[in-house]
Amino acid sequence: MHKYIRDILADVKAKNAGQPEFLQAVEEVLVSLEPVIKANPKYEQNAILERMVEPERIVMFRVPWTDDAGKVHVNRGYRIQFNGAIGPYKGGLRFDSTVNLSVLKFLAFEQVFKNSLTTLPLGGGKGGSDFNPKGRSDAEVMRFCQSFMTELFRHIGADTDVPAGDMNVGGREIGYLFGQYKRLTNQFTGVLTGKGLSFGGSLIRPEATGYGDVYFAENMLATRKETLEGKVCSISGSGNVAQYAAEKLVQLGAKPVTFSDRTGWIYVKDGMNQAFIDEVKNLKQVKRGDLATFAKNRKGVEFHANGRPWVVPVDCAFPCARQNELDGKDAATLLKNGCKLVGEGANMPSTLEAIDAFVKAKILYSPGKASNAGGVATSGLEMSQNSERLSWSAEEVDAKLKGIMKAIHDNAYEAAAKYGKKGNYVVGANIAGFVKVADAMLAHGLV
Ligand code: NDP
Repeated sequence: MHKYIRDILADVKAKNAGQPEFLQAVEEVLVSLEPVIKANPKYEQNAILERMVEPERIVMFRVPWTDDAGKVHVNRGYRIQFNGAIGPYKGGLRFDSTVNLSVLKFLAFEQVFKNSLTTLPLGGGKGGSDFNPKGRSDAEVMRFCQSFMTELFRHIGADTDVPAGDMNVGGREIGYLFGQYKRLTNQFTGVLTGKGLSFGGSLIRPEATGYGDVYFAENMLATRKETLEGKVCSISGSGNVAQYAAEKLVQLGAKPVTFSDRTGWIYVKDGMNQAFIDEVKNLKQVKRGDLATFAKNRKGVEFHANGRPWVVPVDCAFPCARQNELDGKDAATLLKNGCKLVGEGANMPSTLEAIDAFVKAKILYSPGKASNAGGVATSGLEMSQNSERLSWSAEEVDAKLKGIMKAIHDNAYEAAAKYGKKGNYVVGANIAGFVKVADAMLAHGLV
């Protein structure tokens, strides 16, 4: 390993002990940057890596709120403004009991490279809270969101930092957050994305991450003169990304056969159709229910309370739930069963060991920062529409999304080829994302 990278990794480990997710994300990126660091001493001379692993700013705050019984709760809120070299900070808000500084720093760090890859002028950030909306009434979620925004509003803005949704933050939460921002500032601006259509949201934004993940897979398959037609596919998760990945797979003639959630996973041997996916959408978006209950007495649907969907033999796998949900053992099982493509919809779903196995096996493997970038890219399109005070048609947005996913694919493919790693999308995505941000940082001087 190049000495500069080794030294930075050691320093990051020493300074961020107890933040395993952040350390994992940094290691994955830095190790793959070796060829570009070797070829460009200017990055070391200007301490680019030292600056890139340190967030520009972290805001942590108290979020007090009352439940329906009048009991007071206190959660912790965060916003991490990691790198604003190429545009306003942009990245989602995650509400989940598993949220902590390590998880949000890994997500914000990844976001910097992802946003750079989208070809749009977006810096990287992330935020959220250890509050979990599951099981809470709408009124409780609203009070939490209002309290969260009462601190957050002073740190964000349409030209400063534009948050969006992430796990457990969907249309309902964005609506409440936007309402409170507007009330506090008396401004109607594009300060959040993922908004409802009636107040500045973009068509195709809900679909964008899942659709984009599948468009990216199509582009990868095209390099081997293949298509998704007839391919059997496993998907993990059953939330926003998973639902729309399944929908696009069905539209393109593929056969999605699994979904998962916190209660277990389902196997639909004959493949899902649109009506089935619509039922899952209703289950998760409206009823806020679980797969265990959904699968009961349902013909053609097997429910497994234990294990993960990666045991099913498939052509393609789409991890769309959470970080580290696919480990070395899962990767070995997928490969043994003949899986030829892994397209990450979630952020960092594969462990370093799993990534290593996919790269060594030379299957088509796309890291989330490339293949799930369709969500933030369409958020970028929502920002453009808000600035113009215009709404584009679904066809227009979808066409732009498709074009962006192709551009991300081609940039990553070409960057890998340039540095002698043809077909390695990990190296390609990291280098392509890194160079744009690093060069902007060099241009700005020591800031
Ligand atoms: P959702 O909250 O809509 O869905 C998350 C899914 O993952 C749910 O099915 C959830 O189960 C499942 N899940 C969460 N934690 C666990 C766990 N510990 N064990 C088993 N299943 C679990 O989130 P999204 O679909 O929006 O996000 C999914 C992933 O995609 C995340 O990594 C996110 O960061 C990433 N991503 C999302 C983008 C977006 O636009 N939404 C953009 C880019 C990346 P349950 O239903 O039971 O809660």
